[in-house]
Amino acid sequence: MYYSKEELERTRIEGEERLKKMKEEEKGYKYESSNGIKVICIHCKHEYFHKGSALLNTRGLTFFDLDWLNEAATTLICGRCGYIHWFGKEVKQME
Ligand SMILES: [Zn+2]
Repeated sequence: MYYSKEELERTRIEGEERLKKMKEEEKGYKYESSNGIKVICIHCKHEYFHKGSALLNTRGLTFFDLDWLNEAATTLICGRCGYIHWFGKEVKQME
C-alpha cells in the first residue's frame, strides 16, 4: 500500500495529538468551585484533578436531615495524591 508524504505527515500529527490528549486526561484538569475559587488539593497542593460523582442520598444523611444535599455530589480526585474532595455544588473545569 502506498501512502503519500502528506498522508503520512497527517497520520503522524493525528497520532501525536491523540497522545497529547491522552496524557492530559491522565494528568487531570484544573477546576474551580461555583464561587470561582480554584480548587487546590488540601493534602498536597496539587492543581489537577479527575472529576467524578458519588451518591449522597444514604440513609445516614437522611437521618441527619441533609436531604437538601440532593442525590449526587461532585468528587474531585487529586491527580497526584488521590485525595478525594467532595462538592455539594457543581464545579467548573478551567481552561
Ligand atoms: Zn493531592
